[in-house]
Amino acid sequence: MIEISSLEFAYPGSDFSLRIPDFHVGAQEKVAVIGPSGSGKTTLLNLVAGILVPEQGTVRCGDSEVSALGEAARRDFRISRIGFVFQDFELLDYLSVLDNVLHPYRITKTLKLTKAVRDRAGKLLQQMGLGDKLTRGVERLSQGEKQRVAICRALLPSPQLVLADEATGNLDPRNKGHILDLLFDAVQDHGSTLLAVTHDHELLPRFDRTVDFN
Ligand code: ADP
Ligand code: MG
Repeated sequence: MIEISSLEFAYPGSDFSLRIPDFHVGAQEKVAVIGPSGSGKTTLLNLVAGILVPEQGTVRCGDSEVSALGEAARRDFRISRIGFVFQDFELLDYLSVLDNVLHPYRITKTLKLTKAVRDRAGKLLQQMGLGDKLTRGVERLSQGEKQRVAICRALLPSPQLVLADEATGNLDPRNKGHILDLLFDAVQDHGSTLLAVTHDHELLPRFDRTVDFN
């Protein structure tokens, strides 16, 4: 599902650089990424999603060579094929909970917003414990609630690849197990691949494999 080779990346004006000679994640594999803060975990996810483009080397994802696509094609690819739970959520503050979750369907032609999709969105939010907050503006949510909205938005299109950047970092222990079960069940049910950054070593047994950025 993910195939990176001979990758070199640096941020302009920064001395951080990332070199990945060879990295492979198989279809339906669940891989955890661990490592200290600043080691490039978020950068890796952004390269896989085509938010960032490498200076050298290639990033392939499914049948797309992401690193060779133009900006508009990378954006369409990302919205329609990847469920990305961002470390800082990236919710739209002026939209309600439900409209945030439906937003990907409104900004790309490749996703069709049907009645069935709306119903699924409502059900997913219900399962995440947000059923009574569908019309609430997301700026009036706790961090944990925002994180759950971000997870729902990522899962709704049943993407072939889920990228999760510390997706349970803001959840209280009681919610965490339940939300993780929903995330892993969704990935399992849709035969998706999961690449997840986590600081929570207790979660590692749930994954097929761990990649350490140390
Ligand atoms: P992690 O997710 O492992 O904490 P990141 O991938 O976010 O690490 O960051 C890796 C390094 O790149 C850090 O040193 C960070 O300061 C730097 N960095 C991240 N984003 C940018 C950016 N947009 N511009 C310049 N440097 C950045
Ligand atoms: Mg990070």
